[in-house]
Amino acid sequence: MIRYALNCTDGHVFESWFQNSAAFDKQKKRGLVTCPICGSEKVEKAIMAPKLARTDIERPPAPMPPPPAPSNPQAATPAMPPMPPVPAGKSSVAIMSHQERELRQKLKELRDHVTKNANYVGGQFPEEARKMHYGEIEHRSIYGEASPDEAKALHEEGIEFHPLPILPDDQN
Ligand SMILES: [Zn+2]
Repeated sequence: MIRYALNCTDGHVFESWFQNSAAFDKQKKRGLVTCPICGSEKVEKAIMAPKLARTDIERPPAPMPPPPAPSNPQAATPAMPPMPPVPAGKSSVAIMSHQERELRQKLKELRDHVTKNANYVGGQFPEEARKMHYGEIEHRSIYGEASPDEAKALHEEGIEFHPLPILPDDQN
């Protein structure tokens, strides 16, 4: 068995096991290798060394060597100097963990999905949302702007909507 890190054209990364590299090629050709996140068949091997799985039960005569130590000397630096306090007026930034980066990516996908599939109605949002809520027009996906007062009024009328996630990129 061989494990491949794969990614689709949308940039989703996932892993899958194959009997061997030929099996991967065959399954891919038949469209059987799909992205578990978006279902895309346009899947490629990620640039990453595949790991071989041990299918034997007995221990192999020679154990696998440990992974080589990072060659980057910076990685071996014992401790970072203390961070200076962030001056007022600067925007807060963060070094994100892998999970946090994934979450951020998901938010971006959500927002891209909404903005791609919904009608932009701009400042008409409260009016349009209200019309839909009261059955004056057919339900559809819309997005637009609402002032805090308008948003509050909509909530009080029981109209459900969600703020779009704002990502740091938007502020650039
Ligand atoms: Zn995908």
